[in-house]
Amino acid sequence: MDTAVVWFRRDLRLHDNETLARALADANRIVPLYVFDPDAYDRSRYIDRPKIGDHRATFIRESVADLRANLRTRGGDLLVRHGDPTEVVPAVANEYDAAGVYFQTMPATEELTTENATKAALADEGIVSERFWTHTLYHLNDLPTAVDSIDDTYTPWRKEIEREATVREPFDTPTSVSTPDLDTGPLPTLADLGRSEPEPDERRAIAHRGGESAGRERVQSYIWEEDRLREYKQTRNGLLGADYSSKFSAWLAQGSLSPRWLHEQVQAYEDERVSNDSTYWLVFELLWRDFFQFQFIKHGSDFFDEQGIRSADKRWRREQPAFERWAAGETGVPFVDANMRELNETGYMSNRGRQNVASFLTDVLEIDWRQGAAYFESRLVDYDVCSNWGNWAYQSGVGNDSRDNYFNVLGQGERYDSDAAYIGHWLPELAELPAEYAHRPWQMSDDEQARHGVELGIEYPRPMVEIEEWYRMH
Ligand SMILES: Cc1cc2nc3c(=O)[nH]c(=O)nc-3n(C[C@H](O)[C@H](O)[C@H](O)COP(=O)(O)OP(=O)(O)OC[C@H]3O[C@@H](n4cnc5c(N)ncnc54)[C@H](O)[C@@H]3O)c2cc1C
Repeated sequence: MDTAVVWFRRDLRLHDNETLARALADANRIVPLYVFDPDAYDRSRYIDRPKIGDHRATFIRESVADLRANLRTRGGDLLVRHGDPTEVVPAVANEYDAAGVYFQTMPATEELTTENATKAALADEGIVSERFWTHTLYHLNDLPTAVDSIDDTYTPWRKEIEREATVREPFDTPTSVSTPDLDTGPLPTLADLGRSEPEPDERRAIAHRGGESAGRERVQSYIWEEDRLREYKQTRNGLLGADYSSKFSAWLAQGSLSPRWLHEQVQAYEDERVSNDSTYWLVFELLWRDFFQFQFIKHGSDFFDEQGIRSADKRWRREQPAFERWAAGETGVPFVDANMRELNETGYMSNRGRQNVASFLTDVLEIDWRQGAAYFESRLVDYDVCSNWGNWAYQSGVGNDSRDNYFNVLGQGERYDSDAAYIGHWLPELAELPAEYAHRPWQMSDDEQARHGVELGIEYPRPMVEIEEWYRMH
């Protein structure tokens, strides 16, 4: 064909991008397009917060700018539009007289609804559309068991896939991109998106800068220069610093890193440096990511149901003041609060932290898990619909695990932050306390509070629940 539109969605990269590679092979010229969908920037239906907060909006904007820059160095460009994709995509196809539109398909309900409606609108105009599955390590079509019948439990699913499937070769990065004359359109400012620039917090684990270039730099630094992969399994439960875990998640979520390309990097590292439990473990974690993507195809909108995919029988409370204390990091339980403040200030939280704050909200406070998931959606720089809602459902006992797996946040804090350095980092008001009091400040007598200069209810909140008692009873 003469011209094809490539509609970029959460595949903001040139490397290993089948959609782009196929369009370049099938058409003489392509029209690369990104659409900022105002619906995505709307308010959540579960809480009074925007679905995309300042950190992710900034990251997405940077990712799109980087995609445009990378297309430009190859002779191409990127069209940027603001509007409903079901209208914008066919309009752009008509404007450039394109015979086809190529785009990434995604598993979650809203994304699928949008792409199905876009496909139908294109068909009405006689324009062909081609969809490609491009964001998992294993390809959807390579699953040993059809996706509708895959196991709902991770381990048997993982073992089957490791035994019976192989990871496809990544696609090469195109060296040149030929486009017609484009009316490219400006990149919206954060203000256009109704957001503002977040204040950088010097305490953050890393500076998340959006785009394929920054994502690849992070891989280069974490795997090759800092040589961290050899110890990943031992360090990944850490809480402080840039390198305890990979921090690849935000780039994976926007598709600026391809998991297949990452897998190739791991294999190269194994060939050149070391192959051990840690190198395997990064792939193991990428399989968790795959698992939730495929689970969403299987269970669809059930994942957003109050009782989840298991039709559980849980009673959830909706208590706004308690939810807001949790969200603000003002529960009076330091390990929870430190993690929530990190999230609020930076858009990132470790996996250990996420499990603990989710357990506190849903097990201890018994608050509707969907409010917690929606809060993460609003705040996380690495938000991915399947990873987020899948993990929240799992942690709340309505998802992919039948175990009653609550986390004792006091024990977890003392184990993973034994010297309370993490607590002191995010709660400076507690930084001078001995570690045992930093984890359990309510154990201080009035005299001790006066001696340490931390009066509960003034410098730091009293705990909102009798947490020690709660764990004794459960
Ligand atoms: C309640 C809750 C909500 C979460 N929400 C998200 C989310 O919105 N987006 C997101 O990417 N991850 C989410 N996770 C998973 C995990 O916490 C993050 O992927 C991880 O902390 C990101 O840091 P990292 O890149 O350094 O991870 P690493 O430990 O270095 O892991 C490497 C990669 O593996 C994948 N991964 C690791 N653990 C998981 C997991 N449990 N589920 C799915 N993928 C995983 C991620 O892509 C990650 O980048 C959530 C976990 C919980 C418990």
